[in-house]
Amino acid sequence: MSLSTAQLINELQTYGVRLVDPKAGLESRRGGAGPSDHKALTLDGVTVMAPVHTAPAFESPYLVEKPDAEGRATVRRDGAALGEVRFPARPRFYDLTTADGVPYWKIATLHGRDVLATTVLQTCIRYQSRTKSCQFCAIGQSLAAGRTIERKTPRQLAEVAKAAVVLDDVKHMVMTTGTPRGADRGAQMLCDSARAVKASVFLPIQAQCEPPDDDEWFGRMKASGVDTLGMHLEIVTPELRARLMPGKADVPVARYLEAYKAAVPVFGRGQVSTYILAGLGDTAEAILEISAKLVALGVYPFVVPFVPISGTPLESHPTPSPEFMHSILRPLARMIVDGGLKAAEIKAGCGKCGACSALSTYERMLSP
Ligand code: SF4
Repeated sequence: MSLSTAQLINELQTYGVRLVDPKAGLESRRGGAGPSDHKALTLDGVTVMAPVHTAPAFESPYLVEKPDAEGRATVRRDGAALGEVRFPARPRFYDLTTADGVPYWKIATLHGRDVLATTVLQTCIRYQSRTKSCQFCAIGQSLAAGRTIERKTPRQLAEVAKAAVVLDDVKHMVMTTGTPRGADRGAQMLCDSARAVKASVFLPIQAQCEPPDDDEWFGRMKASGVDTLGMHLEIVTPELRARLMPGKADVPVARYLEAYKAAVPVFGRGQVSTYILAGLGDTAEAILEISAKLVALGVYPFVVPFVPISGTPLESHPTPSPEFMHSILRPLARMIVDGGLKAAEIKAGCGKCGACSALSTYERMLSP
């Protein structure tokens, strides 16, 4: 894996791509939690989520031509061919419907190349008013548009997970959730969901939630079949957290650090992670400083470029430059490798998938 590949991935993720055929590849998700307005493309064996429906993507210097029947297409920059990308085929499980009549694709979707992703609860106590909601989040949009259902039951998740493994060779699962009322922050729901999936099929699972009020939940989640845990800081500078995620900032960074300390002995070093959105105002130094603390605790800091989602208050916020991402990801990869953590060794989740950041490509440059 070369530096030029890592930089090209950085550019595709920050500038986005223009598609000659907007229908190429899988239909991109609009709204929702996690990556949205993106399409998965595979380049040099690496699957990348590249923005396609965002304002910066309409101006991107990268153009992807209409794919052939096998899903292969030429990518060009300023007219010059740079190579070939491949669009994943539509997963077969998308054609199925549950016994109670819900299409499987409304319950969970394919992320990257081989990840099944679901938002167990598609509502959030923080989303009810824009004065409290995270300004980058679109969790309510896909629900309002009828592209998902509000609450995915354990039985539905188990049914879809089994089909995704059998029909599409999915290798791990991400279960995220909007934050419900209650001190557990969704931990009970994630336990119930993981238990049902594990009873139905072997599939490593990452659960993602805010730190529950009681650290005993980490043991319960592990015992229910959760293999890795994501507790996502999103932004690291307290003033920016208060401004851009006013509800979620009620839980301070210090509580996250305490929760990581309690969770790592349960899940193992490198099996607890956080997601940090670079480009919302945190300096590279601030991100690297907290990352050093996280790596020392055994937490994998998955730093991704911020991509604005249409319809959110930050839809016109610029994406970070590829140079800014490079200034973080290069030293961060060194820090991660020196700290003995590696994307490839994570059992499940975003850090393992890696499609939203060039971080694991930088890691592979250091330890092929
Ligand atoms: S990194 Fe996480 S959010 Fe991004 S595509 Fe992979 S599983 Fe989905």
